[in-house]
Amino acid sequence: MSGKPAQKKASRGPDLKARPAEQPFQYPLEREFVEPDWKRLPGYRDVSREDWESALWQRRHSVKNLKEFKAVFQDLFPEDLHQSIERDMQERATMSMLMPPQMLNTMNEKNLWGDPVRRYMMPAFDERNPDWPSHPHSTRDSLHEAEMWAVEGLTHRYPTKVLAEMLPTCPQYCGHCTRMDLVGNNVPQVQKHRFETAQQDRYTTMLDYLRKTPSVRDVVVSGGDVANLPIAVLEAFVSSLMDIPHIKDIRLATKGLMGIPQHFLQDEVLKGFERLARKAIERGVDLALHTHINHANQVTPLVAKAARKLLDMGFRDVRNQGVLLRGVNTTSKDLLDLCFTLLDHGNIMPYYFYQCDMIPNAEHWRLAVHEAQQLQHDIMGFLPGFATARIVCDVPFVGKRWVNQLREYDREKGITYWTKNYRTGIEHDDAEALTRLYPYYDPIYTLPEAGQDWWRKNAAQAATASAS
Ligand code: SF4
Repeated sequence: MSGKPAQKKASRGPDLKARPAEQPFQYPLEREFVEPDWKRLPGYRDVSREDWESALWQRRHSVKNLKEFKAVFQDLFPEDLHQSIERDMQERATMSMLMPPQMLNTMNEKNLWGDPVRRYMMPAFDERNPDWPSHPHSTRDSLHEAEMWAVEGLTHRYPTKVLAEMLPTCPQYCGHCTRMDLVGNNVPQVQKHRFETAQQDRYTTMLDYLRKTPSVRDVVVSGGDVANLPIAVLEAFVSSLMDIPHIKDIRLATKGLMGIPQHFLQDEVLKGFERLARKAIERGVDLALHTHINHANQVTPLVAKAARKLLDMGFRDVRNQGVLLRGVNTTSKDLLDLCFTLLDHGNIMPYYFYQCDMIPNAEHWRLAVHEAQQLQHDIMGFLPGFATARIVCDVPFVGKRWVNQLREYDREKGITYWTKNYRTGIEHDDAEALTRLYPYYDPIYTLPEAGQDWWRKNAAQAATASAS
């Protein structure tokens, strides 16, 4: 026996201290996952389930103007909101109005001023920033996609990926559309550009370009919105892509999966997608669908059903690329609500949230980069890593960058500087493409007073530089 005093034996049992703690975001979700009852809206009181679930009925009854919107909401549509949207359509809007009933049914009829879906689909004049409705560096084609067309409508911006703009229409028009230059109808503020080549000839030229460009492995088939392409046309194009041996990834881009899920539940459309999914598996191509949902209220059982059908037939994934829009989804709660709803109920993978691009009259929606960084910070750790949406800034002439990847940040003037590691399709002989700093701009009203003063003095010069 040693003379040392006996030591207290260390406990080897588990020290069970962990338990659920109070969190900034509470899970499980509070919202019940049901299709909102359309009969609560005065204009849809007599609409049968059969009509509601018909894509044709949804398209025929899509709302194209304020008179039709008023007919749906009637006395629930406040008169001052009506006037403010009307003025906006005359003086600020860059997109015309178009919404299928499915989208209207996800609005809160008791608070249309505050409703997130109404706020981005039907902006009101009083919501725009009165001093800086547009940033002086905003431009119609803010991502310079048309400058990077390899052939008309085929943007070759990244080394291994291209974007095919199949058509300039959608089943719904979003107020913040980044392709406002090309997509949709003319509005008082914007005469839209039009493709010059006939549609079928454009597709042939795109396919020819891709056949002879083996460095491209990935094609985003977009629009507009592919939900507006007849399924036979879409199938023929995508099937031809699959016949090109070096194309390994095909993503079909459609907000319509949410805006009009009824389209994706039609027999003919399902059969077309099924043939494509089968061919993709045979050829070893990853076929996925990318949608664009900005708020949890828009994920409904019909949307989930359409996504499930695609997954069951062999689509690799259905992913969501939302846009950060102030007043719509720019709290961590908004984003986590949306991501968990997509994941738990929608059969859709959260993927990206984009900063709203620098198009005209978008300032009230846009966030400063530091606000986006904070949001990225605040959503980390709640979702599985594979479903934690990345918040990205699409920097002109650079491409998507994670919001934390910036090189320098002038917080006073709200200018971030970014670098890149590849050449876009128009920089073959640009010796400085990979060393240059590329600027991006915060909304001016978010800056400190000294920065706002600087812009007041320099705005005209900046606007001229952007236009040239
Ligand atoms: S669905 Fe996409 S392309 Fe169409 S208006 Fe909306 S953002 Fe633009």
